[in-house]
Amino acid sequence: MEVRKIHDKEFELFIPNARINVAISDMAASISRDLEGKDVIFMGILNGAFMFAAELIKQITPNCQITFLKLASYAGTSSTGTVKRLIGINEDIKNKTVVILEDIVDTGITLESIIKQLNGYEPVEIRVATLLHKPDAYLKDIPLDYVGFEIPNDFVVGYGLDYEGFGRNLADIYKVVDP
Ligand code: 5GP
Repeated sequence: MEVRKIHDKEFELFIPNARINVAISDMAASISRDLEGKDVIFMGILNGAFMFAAELIKQITPNCQITFLKLASYAGTSSTGTVKRLIGINEDIKNKTVVILEDIVDTGITLESIIKQLNGYEPVEIRVATLLHKPDAYLKDIPLDYVGFEIPNDFVVGYGLDYEGFGRNLADIYKVVDP
């Protein structure tokens, strides 16, 4: 078993990079098919979604725009429930199809807040693509249009996701051992 130590915690290999790539390719094919002919802007949520967004967007075939938004809502290994303001909405998204790119949807509190803030800019529709989803933690009924992996309620790092600022560079996804 491959184990990595980050700060005080040990993490074990959970989803290898090859499986992540397959899931992203499948998702890109579905999105490309569904959004053909629409005026689409992808919005990656920083920092966590940078790696997922980069891999996905390369495989999107219709013409589209991409931008990144930033917020910070998470400290340590549990969701704080407080959500911060979105920074960086400087593209004109009125009448466009927005696809939010998230690294992980856990409780859905962050996602709900992002959607509320984006709705103020009158997009024609908002879709959600997330690499990871924890259905057992999900508190909202917002449909998730594209999900890479449904995972148990364990804390994970890698492929853009961090623990206390570290682990984002890992090409595989790891989960915490004995939280
Ligand atoms: P939510 O608002 O859905 O509870 O949480 C969303 C945010 O919490 C994610 O964008 C991510 O930053 C963080 N988060 C939730 N679960 C995990 C996890 O297992 N690992 C890491 N690194 N971040 C997580």
